[in-house]
Amino acid sequence: MARRLRVVVDHDLCVGNGTCLTIAPAVFEHNANRQSEAKHPDGAPEAAILDAARNCPVAAIGVEVEGTGERLFP
Ligand code: SF4
Repeated sequence: MARRLRVVVDHDLCVGNGTCLTIAPAVFEHNANRQSEAKHPDGAPEAAILDAARNCPVAAIGVEVEGTGERLFP
């Protein structure tokens, strides 16, 4: 069974350009402020979520393993 991830978007950083929504549309959604929310961390494989995090232009996406707290990004 795949490990669960905790995915958090820092709204002090997110500029809402939508790159993460393009890479992992089942995971990220824009909120009313046009900032990204990680609504469904189980919505894509771990590799896709990390790809979204790495491609965020302002490094607003943090990813860690649920339970252990192991930091995967940044
Ligand atoms: S890629 Fe980064 S800046 Fe763009 S919407 Fe997603 S979290 Fe926000």
